[in-house]
Amino acid sequence: MFRQTKTVLAKLQNVRLKGLHLSWRRRSTAAAAAAAAGEKAHQYTAGQQIHGFTVKEVVAVPELFLTAIKLTHDRTGAQYLHAARDDPNNLFSVQFRTTPMDSTGVPHILEHTVLCGSQKYPCRDPFFKMLNRSLCTFMNAFTASDYTMYPFSTQNAKDFQNLLSVYLDAVFFPCLREQDFWQEGWRLENEDPADASSPLVFKGVVFNEMKGAFSDNERLYAQHLQNKLYPDHTYSVVSGGEPLAIPDLTWEQLKDFHATHYHPSNAMFFTYGDLPLEQHLKQIEQEALSKFERIQTNTRVPSQPPWASPREERVTCSPDAMAPDAARQSTLCVSYKLGDITDTFEAFTLSLLSALMTSGPNAPFYKALIEPKIGTDFSSVVGYDGSTKEASFSIGLQGIAECDADKVKNIIRQTVDSIIESGFEDERIEALLHKTEIQIKHQSSNFGLSLASYIASSWNHDGDPVELLQINNSIREFRRALQENPRFLQDKVQHYLKENSHRLTLSMSPDDSYLDKQVSAEERKLREKIAALSDSDKKDIYEKGLRLLAAQSETQDASCLPTLKVSDIAPTLAATPLHMTKAGGVPLQLCEQPTNGLVYFRAMCSLNTLPEDLKLYVPLFCSVITKMGCGSLDYRQQAQQMELKTGDMSVSPQVIPDCAHMDVFEQVGSDSLDPKLGHCRLIPTVCQGVLLSSSCLERNLADMLQLWAEIFNSPRFDDPERLRVLVMMSAQELANGISYAGHVYAMTRAGHLLTPAGELLETFDGMDQVRFMKRIAEMSDLTPVLRMLPRIKKHLLNPENMRCAVNATPQGASESVLHLENFMTDVAGKRKRFKAVRPNVIQRPLDVNNISGACKTLVADSNFQPCHMKTFFQLPFPVNFVSESIRTVPYSHKDYASLCVLARMMTAKFLHGEIREKGGAYGGGAKMAGGGLFSFYSYRDPNSVQTLSAFGKGVDWAKSGKFSQQDIDEAKLSIFSAVDSPVAPSSKGMSVFLSGITDEMKQRHRERLFDVTRGNLLDVAERYLSVGSKTYGVSILGPENDAIKKDPSWVVK
Ligand SMILES: [Zn+2]
Repeated sequence: MFRQTKTVLAKLQNVRLKGLHLSWRRRSTAAAAAAAAGEKAHQYTAGQQIHGFTVKEVVAVPELFLTAIKLTHDRTGAQYLHAARDDPNNLFSVQFRTTPMDSTGVPHILEHTVLCGSQKYPCRDPFFKMLNRSLCTFMNAFTASDYTMYPFSTQNAKDFQNLLSVYLDAVFFPCLREQDFWQEGWRLENEDPADASSPLVFKGVVFNEMKGAFSDNERLYAQHLQNKLYPDHTYSVVSGGEPLAIPDLTWEQLKDFHATHYHPSNAMFFTYGDLPLEQHLKQIEQEALSKFERIQTNTRVPSQPPWASPREERVTCSPDAMAPDAARQSTLCVSYKLGDITDTFEAFTLSLLSALMTSGPNAPFYKALIEPKIGTDFSSVVGYDGSTKEASFSIGLQGIAECDADKVKNIIRQTVDSIIESGFEDERIEALLHKTEIQIKHQSSNFGLSLASYIASSWNHDGDPVELLQINNSIREFRRALQENPRFLQDKVQHYLKENSHRLTLSMSPDDSYLDKQVSAEERKLREKIAALSDSDKKDIYEKGLRLLAAQSETQDASCLPTLKVSDIAPTLAATPLHMTKAGGVPLQLCEQPTNGLVYFRAMCSLNTLPEDLKLYVPLFCSVITKMGCGSLDYRQQAQQMELKTGDMSVSPQVIPDCAHMDVFEQVGSDSLDPKLGHCRLIPTVCQGVLLSSSCLERNLADMLQLWAEIFNSPRFDDPERLRVLVMMSAQELANGISYAGHVYAMTRAGHLLTPAGELLETFDGMDQVRFMKRIAEMSDLTPVLRMLPRIKKHLLNPENMRCAVNATPQGASESVLHLENFMTDVAGKRKRFKAVRPNVIQRPLDVNNISGACKTLVADSNFQPCHMKTFFQLPFPVNFVSESIRTVPYSHKDYASLCVLARMMTAKFLHGEIREKGGAYGGGAKMAGGGLFSFYSYRDPNSVQTLSAFGKGVDWAKSGKFSQQDIDEAKLSIFSAVDSPVAPSSKGMSVFLSGITDEMKQRHRERLFDVTRGNLLDVAERYLSVGSKTYGVSILGPENDAIKKDPSWVVK
């Protein structure tokens, strides 16, 4: 959702190396690009003074193709780092060290309220409004345990200046009005603000957000663990806010916290990209820093004094109705305090060491803890965590029986001993360094953002961010250390784990009355607050409530904010040249890209011939097929080979609605086109299949394809114990994901009877799948499931039903054809023709410019009848996820663009205000998807059926035409910032490969978006969304709900 909080960031930081991906360079080859950016950056020298800053250091970092320039602001002491790189996706971020000493959530509520209006931009919520006035590729704010960060990125220079101005004013000169504090933080208010006699309740965006966040047991556990491992300072409190401590915060305290923490003397600025540094410095000095004098800050985090002896603690949580095994719901983990994260090399070593100990089936802790199946998966916190000043290493299990706690502790102790004794095989260390090499070479679409989060924690504690970027230095030093002392890693384990008395064993078990206790604690808190109120206080609260409601309903004037215009958007799209060919008789799409020497190989395998009874098993099949072993390799050897030779090999189920029609299925094939059917475009389709994805260095392509060939030819389905381990982990992951992605599950369910694609999506990715996996996990004997796998394999991993795509450098691409020919020869024996499950077959060319070339086969389901359904899933959450989906038109229909603009405009101009500001939900809106479903949703919502009527009011609002041309233009800008967001070289051409959406179709869609008029919007709102004319489905996930139970029109699950 819009604002992510601590866990998400912590998750990012837990996988630091994974987070570090290179962005793509548009203009030239890697070396030339680095030279060009470096040249510009090298004009700076240490000691040089620019706009109130002094350059401290200029360092080239060739492995990341960038030059780092470190500066300090002379008068205030603000820190600044610029990474000059030939990448047009420029990023800005400012971060403050925010170290709360209580759990009122003050940094988090401050993060929300500074975005509610500032001196120069006094309109309400300029941050959300800028989303519609900009072509940003990213805009967000994070509250971590010890810092708060405000990043944005954009490819447009003018947009960069606009956003920078809004960001600087927001953080340094916010209004912080009392009303903003009530809305975003907490308030007492009449349940119905218009009715003075309705009971007083707690409201507030952060208050509800944190109630929602702590309904996630993994999050709850991580919070407890951090609080208890560092109990003496800021890490002992909840920076996001403990729901019942939030009402202790006052507006005065909020303003004080801002004055002492959001000051340049406590700030770190980071910029990245190809825009000139000097312009950034000038603007930051003029608009913000020149107005401040240096202050003494008091935000440093002291080291946690080490414990003389280990500690043990227990906490409770709510039982999980979706847990794969109801009798095993406890978590136990041992967490060790490590060294300071500002010691770059030590931190690098410990994160590698952690991966060696825990990651993949060859890791000692995986063998010792996961494989005996004492628990369902590792604990939510596992491995190295560098998000606190002193890092930690944690190891443990979730999904264990309470009585197995001692067993788990013993295994951990024994495993530490055995690692110290035998160390790691050289081949595993090599595999890990190979993985690091690939991660550095792989280019993501927002590299600036990856860098900002990569350096944030260490820099926050005065570590050197430049040292952190010089990864090759760390790798060199690591190799040298290993050479000098073969026991280098074992000695670390001895020191940090075995001999470390600062370790915490934390167990968490469900308590049946947990939710009741929480509810009564909240009631108690509410009674205390109300008891302290006089009659005039109550009157005051009622009036404030009315004023807030009035302010929220006011038409808003955002004209003070800077904006781009629709005319600033590029009228045409840059084309991606693709080459369509064949390899071994199978269609192949080649896309030449600057991939830094990596090859990305994908294959789409149709499941149209798969019998219906096997479909529910497809996601399970996908998650295990690369992890069970193949040919002569058992699953351990297979994992080792994959780490040594590839970046990744995975298989995932795909449901891709056809861009032209809504009720047909794709079958991939290599037959030539039947000219009669090739132009039959009136029958709706959906592409259903599984996607094989993989990447490797060019030199390893033959080896990687050999591994795929083994998986096609002789996958191993002989080990029920291995299957059980994988099943438990998948089921646990699914169960844990619901509280985080509940709105997605609600939308999937709401749309499941509206199109064939929707139906299949529910089967693969919806609540149906979650429940199915829970049932599988509960089975005492998995042999029947194991017997299904070869049946599925026969249909899916079949060259007859396959087409491939390769993204690589020109040389890599041409070499790959030969390797693929060999691969096809190797797997030719698996080529079989089966009858499609659905009888109506039509064929479409893969290349629209060559209709006599290779084509794909689509299977029609013209008998599909959409139907209405309202489903309620009762779940142990204190908040709801609400969705309504409406069947409209697919991507290539002329009304599709109007529906996209309408969804965006309704979200920004109406639904956001109703659902988030008035309703108190964390988020909500409408979105249009390519498969033809127009969906409303709310996220972590205190309301349920009331939100459905807010959706209805949204439609009435749209039909009434109470919007301006400015509103329409803003919606268009916001859509284009998504449409034009950068695509990584590894993903170029994928929309053609997966959905058949060509550059020409994208351009047509682009032109239609530009052309959408007020009249079009009124027209589509009336024709598609009106009660009476719409075909729709509804779904809610949430706590026990009497109103719904009494209403027979709902299906309660
Ligand atoms: Zn938040």
